[in-house]
Amino acid sequence: MRAAVFEKPGIENLKVIDDIEKPKLANPDEVLIKVKVAGLNPIDNIVVSGSIPTVRPIPHIPGAEVSGIVDEIGNAVNGLKRGDRVVIHKKVFDGKCDMCLSGLDMICRNGGLISVITNGGFAEYIAVPQRNVFKILDDMGWDLAASLPVTGLTPFHALNEAHLKVNEFLLVLGASGNTGMIATQLGKKMGAKVIAVSKEEWARDFGADFVIRDYDRIVEQVREITSGKMADVVVNSLGVKMWDSSFESIGINGRLVSFGVLTGADVKLNVRSLYSRQIKLIGSTGGTRRELKDLIDNHDKLQVKVWKRFDLDNVQEALQALLSKERSGRIFLDVS
Ligand SMILES: [Zn+2]
Repeated sequence: MRAAVFEKPGIENLKVIDDIEKPKLANPDEVLIKVKVAGLNPIDNIVVSGSIPTVRPIPHIPGAEVSGIVDEIGNAVNGLKRGDRVVIHKKVFDGKCDMCLSGLDMICRNGGLISVITNGGFAEYIAVPQRNVFKILDDMGWDLAASLPVTGLTPFHALNEAHLKVNEFLLVLGASGNTGMIATQLGKKMGAKVIAVSKEEWARDFGADFVIRDYDRIVEQVREITSGKMADVVVNSLGVKMWDSSFESIGINGRLVSFGVLTGADVKLNVRSLYSRQIKLIGSTGGTRRELKDLIDNHDKLQVKVWKRFDLDNVQEALQALLSKERSGRIFLDVS
């Protein structure tokens, strides 16, 4: 089969090879999936750049967010058949530890990520356990499907962790980014009043009630929009660059949730300001299988903005584009 593979870290070392051995079903509960579309995410760049020492196997196939068609099933697989359209939940988990038993499979004590501790989906085929495979209906396009397991699930879980309520003010930083565009739409679906921070006018098309385009006046504008109350929930997946604005935009008893640090991870925190406003800082990672199922079942009206798409042959270019300052929407790989 064809796949993008690297042996040494670096985008320049990621090569498309035509005759990689097709994955075999190692266990009777595994499913072989023919990959259709893969969504590109910062995690793919982190894997390829060599920043994660636990990446295996080497040579390695990256690709965390995958949609495709069931090609073969193991003897113990039930409820799936050849030809089913599916997406892959990206967490490898044991199903036995205290976290898994609490339904928190994404923070399994003995887990890891597909595409980090296993090969990923920038390949014609990928084999994964049945418990990671979720059926999608025919009415869902491949681009949206390839946006649910990472880009969709991450903000969905984050908003659930932040206990976003109807009529609350939700502030989304980076609202035209991958997770930001979905956070905006989900916030609206959950009944919040959404303030999107984005330089892109199209952020409004995703249901934002207010769009802040001036990054230097975020706090001021949130104050105006909320009549001084400030935001109940703030989503900051951008890290240090947006930290001060996001922290100052949280209202009394508000929550700030983070699941990414695109601009850097080390921030300054005024603890007095934290406790006197009774602010909750929430870390969030991935999402549960139940949440992925909920997203799939309630995907109506969800949309993704496509910026660029590439063939598997141009995977290097696709990963470079992900780092581009001009990026405005998602990048997809058409794998087969
Ligand atoms: Zn576990």
